[in-house]
Amino acid sequence: MNYIVLDLEWNQAYMQKAMAVQKRLCARLRGEVIQIGAVKLDERLDICGSYSIIVKPKYFTKIHRHVMLLTGITQQKMDAGVLLPEAAESFRRFCGEDFAFLTWGPDDIPMLKENFNVNSLSTDWLDRVYDLQTIYSQQTGGEKRQVSLEDAMAALGIEQTLPAHDALNDAYFTALVAKRLDIAGGIARYNPNIGKSLFSLTLGDADVGERGYTGFSSLNDFEGHGVISCPFCKKKMAQDDKTLHMKGQRYLTLMSCAEHGKMFVTARLSHNMDSTYRIKFSIEAAGDEKISSYKTKLAEAEQYRKASSQRHRRPYKRKRKAESTAPVK
Ligand SMILES: [Zn+2]
Repeated sequence: MNYIVLDLEWNQAYMQKAMAVQKRLCARLRGEVIQIGAVKLDERLDICGSYSIIVKPKYFTKIHRHVMLLTGITQQKMDAGVLLPEAAESFRRFCGEDFAFLTWGPDDIPMLKENFNVNSLSTDWLDRVYDLQTIYSQQTGGEKRQVSLEDAMAALGIEQTLPAHDALNDAYFTALVAKRLDIAGGIARYNPNIGKSLFSLTLGDADVGERGYTGFSSLNDFEGHGVISCPFCKKKMAQDDKTLHMKGQRYLTLMSCAEHGKMFVTARLSHNMDSTYRIKFSIEAAGDEKISSYKTKLAEAEQYRKASSQRHRRPYKRKRKAESTAPVK
């Protein structure tokens, strides 16, 4: 089996354009792929091939200034690219028959799938994928779950000899990082369900033409996550613990299915452009590490709540007393 180390660059649209396109497609399109870069590795993780193609976008046809500055891909270069159906076919030929993708972080394959979907291209050959960032964190014992490629390279003493944010260069450096890791061991211990979305549901997405929610009170309709069932058997799940309010209006709840075990349900509130809200639910299998950090954070939140309610109860008295015992000159 070969490994295909994959990296993508994608173009973004300015807000109004993105809105119009998404409404027309009735689907979210966070970005449009403009470069596919890949390095092929043999079983010993030695490089045995490379691939790079510039893709001409179909919807977000104007290069975003930020993307151009970051990637060095100009309007002219992008316009000279090939359309995605053709690029996908040639990339698939490069990948061959027996392969698994390695990516740095979890974003590239979902982005590629989003692009394939709006072009009605088959995505079933994109499913075998391992996130190297996860394997790296496991094997270096790092606390931080999302180490950047640059930081991983620096930690391993790999010199950045080519410009970053070129899909082929980034894939090449990712391949050098892979060479330093125990990939077979990482894959053997890899639980693809952990951290991966098993199910997601967005409600109230006014940006794609649905009716948005007008305020927080609407979230109460979903309290207890009544709309959420086990992604495997569709049975109702039990709520294991309280909901944890996280940064960025995310709400995390540990739930469980009698048959399929513990899962995290994340509810994330986002603003639609018309200032209503949408709610995105997603479910992932709960790994031990994340369960323990969830429990710690819940306990911290509880402690904080207790402490602040005590502070509010009698802040004044304590201060006065302290003052009265202070030495008087
Ligand atoms: Zn179940």
